[in-house]
Amino acid sequence: MANNQRYAQVIVDVPTMQVNHPFDYIIPSQWANFVTPGMRVQVPFGVREVLGFVVEVSDESNIDRELKSISAVLDDEPVLTSEMLQLGKELATQLFTFQILCFQTMIPNLLKVDYTKVFVPLPTISWEHQQQFFSSQKEVSWDAANQNQQLATLMQLKSAGEVAVEYRLKDKKKIKKAYWIQPLLDYEELQEVESQLRPQATKQQDLVAVLMDLDGENISAKQLKASFNLSMQTIRSGERKGWLTVFEKEEKRDPYADLVTETVEPKTLFPEQQQAFNRILPDIHTHRHEVFLLQGVTGSGKTEVYLQLIQAARDLDKTALLLVPEIGLTPQMVNQLKGRFGNDVAVLHSQLTAGERFDEWRKLKHGEAHIAVGARSSIFAPLDNLGIIIIDEEHETTYKQNNAPRYHAREVAKWRGNYHQCPVVLGSATPSLETRARAQNGVYERLTLTKRTNHHELPDVQIVDMREEFKHKNYYQFSRKLRDAITETLARHEQVALMLNRRGYANYIQCMDCGHVFQCPNCDVSLTRHNEDKTLKCHYCGHTEALPQFCPECRGHHLQSFGTGTEKVEQEIMELFPEANVVRMDNDTTRRKGSHQKILNKVANHEADILLGTQMIAKGLDFPNITLVGIINADTSLYLPNFRASEQTFQLITQMSGRAGRGDLPGQVFVQTFNPEHYALQFAKAHDYEKFYAYEMRYRKLNHYSPYVFTIRLTVSHFDEKTGLRTAFKIRRLLQEADVPQTRILGPSQSAIARINNQYYFQVLYHYRNRHAIQPILETIKNKAQEWDRDHIHVMMDVEPMSFM
Ligand code: ADP
Ligand code: ZN
Repeated sequence: MANNQRYAQVIVDVPTMQVNHPFDYIIPSQWANFVTPGMRVQVPFGVREVLGFVVEVSDESNIDRELKSISAVLDDEPVLTSEMLQLGKELATQLFTFQILCFQTMIPNLLKVDYTKVFVPLPTISWEHQQQFFSSQKEVSWDAANQNQQLATLMQLKSAGEVAVEYRLKDKKKIKKAYWIQPLLDYEELQEVESQLRPQATKQQDLVAVLMDLDGENISAKQLKASFNLSMQTIRSGERKGWLTVFEKEEKRDPYADLVTETVEPKTLFPEQQQAFNRILPDIHTHRHEVFLLQGVTGSGKTEVYLQLIQAARDLDKTALLLVPEIGLTPQMVNQLKGRFGNDVAVLHSQLTAGERFDEWRKLKHGEAHIAVGARSSIFAPLDNLGIIIIDEEHETTYKQNNAPRYHAREVAKWRGNYHQCPVVLGSATPSLETRARAQNGVYERLTLTKRTNHHELPDVQIVDMREEFKHKNYYQFSRKLRDAITETLARHEQVALMLNRRGYANYIQCMDCGHVFQCPNCDVSLTRHNEDKTLKCHYCGHTEALPQFCPECRGHHLQSFGTGTEKVEQEIMELFPEANVVRMDNDTTRRKGSHQKILNKVANHEADILLGTQMIAKGLDFPNITLVGIINADTSLYLPNFRASEQTFQLITQMSGRAGRGDLPGQVFVQTFNPEHYALQFAKAHDYEKFYAYEMRYRKLNHYSPYVFTIRLTVSHFDEKTGLRTAFKIRRLLQEADVPQTRILGPSQSAIARINNQYYFQVLYHYRNRHAIQPILETIKNKAQEWDRDHIHVMMDVEPMSFM
């Protein structure tokens, strides 16, 4: 089939195993020159038209069937680089998922929702082209150009810089337009004009003077107004006289425009920081891929090391990627980056609108910004020539995605680090056991920061036995010790941070007469009381009912809610410390964009004496005047059905304790618990990560858990309990028959929440040591699952699961 014909290999948007490979399509000749790998196209597939990603373009096709043609081109430039195409393919294999899902995950949301593209003329467009394509229109839509067979020519004009492509959100607030001015005369001509102006025409003289200064550069009308007090009227008169042209330009949405950050000079590194920096730096210079664990106690200045490494990469004209667990919770990190690198930073923030996020993404893609910061999905930031990848708080579970593709950002980071041959830095005060163990084996290199930058000791941690409080008839959430400490801290005009651990926290309503607990009708979980709208809600399926007046079983009126929300703790604080100002930070108070920042500003300006929050306040906050930290209930997270429960509790307590005493004043911490002897708490009290690690590793080894073995969780769900269980047993049998050495099968067992939304869940855990050896049998199961899917039996495969619920 070799002629002038061009072919595209396309991954189509049909997530099934049979279709998880490229299909060949003819590229119609009009598009032959601009369809490139990484672009999205529309193609006929069966009786439908579907979206697809071009993964390759060639002059030949090996398929001897008659091929269909691409019906539409959806992008003006590739949305995925060849790196991303390769990565998507790899991820699909690693995670037993579909390439199309991986590709869709890599691109910004805006490209998945309703938007249109338009061609707009630029000032440089020739008169003929203006007439031919636009005549008097301001823009031509992509679809119209496609229909009129003008797409190919307009794309050529785009490469020639005569037109631009702009993205418009459908049904969204109008994109802001700004007027811009392009000077038309050169310096001599302007001098000529100036000499002929009447002396009274001061505004016009000003305008000409500005135009002379501009030296041919464009300027916005806004800036002419702001800097030179020149009105649109003056500008229009200049336009009529032929000195300049006015054109409209899409105003860049810059969500951080209002953010006032001072430029912060690099700090002189302390010896430990310098050592870590010196060890990583040569890898940036010599293009070496290595993974570093930067294990530094809280307040040891990890951020400064990150910033200087990023600077080093930028000095070599390389790009940098910094991941943080939840960007909304770490405004201080963003401020520091912005402060040091200004507009070179693109912030990929989940609370931005789709349009804003798309703009940030495009800045990176077009090389207008070279540093990306964001949460998990930012690991796919379109950066070329990466010089360094940093993952802050690498132990955080938010780096693992909970739905398909179930990737871990850390693993993707290592893949990209290898692709770009650049170092990857994993930073934490409490590394995940997996990471710490790899550093032990020499797979990663471990660098340590053992001292706080303020040269103080880590805060003194006291464990408070809440059983004693109950014995003494203290029914408050606050122990007497913590209460006294709060009173003293407030008297010294210092600040307090209080954390309510919501992990694994049951919240339910019970009838005190007959013991009835209010349950969700669709799920095997209890309902949670919501005071704002006086309802009971299910946090799994969203079922909502009005707050009951009496028990449906016994008609009793003594309904009691158990489990404490931050709201209730806040009320207690107001009762116990009426003179203190409290701010609350939880899911309810942070839903609106910018609300985190507002709350934290109140703490920074000392408008609040007490910061009360859920575990979201445990991360990254650096307030020197917070000297007291209280953890109201340390142990709820100990009883989650998860072998990582102790690890996560240790991490949470250590991170939260780390918020105390970061300035010149010493800090103290109170950890309230019903299990004062638990080793996770005891090691956290001693600030001894290394001892905790050693202890926990023994437990993991004894029980054959990660990091000693790898794990895949296979979950079956179905509306019929028996069918679900039977299928789970089928999976067990398949694994057994495969008989791969060094594997172990656990289950099937009912999932921790047996029923969600009327689907029954069963799980099989498959432990293994050799990934290659298990690939075939899991692919077999994956294919079987496709058949079962027709009977609405869903099988989910999760590689290295973080949650077992
Ligand atoms: P970590 O992330 O390790 O908990 P931070 O990066 O928040 O610690 O640093 C703690 C504090 O130390 C911050 O206020 C930071 O500005 C300060 N700091 C870091 N490095 C230096 C340095 N080299 N000289 C002076 N202060 C520093
Ligand atoms: Zn429910």
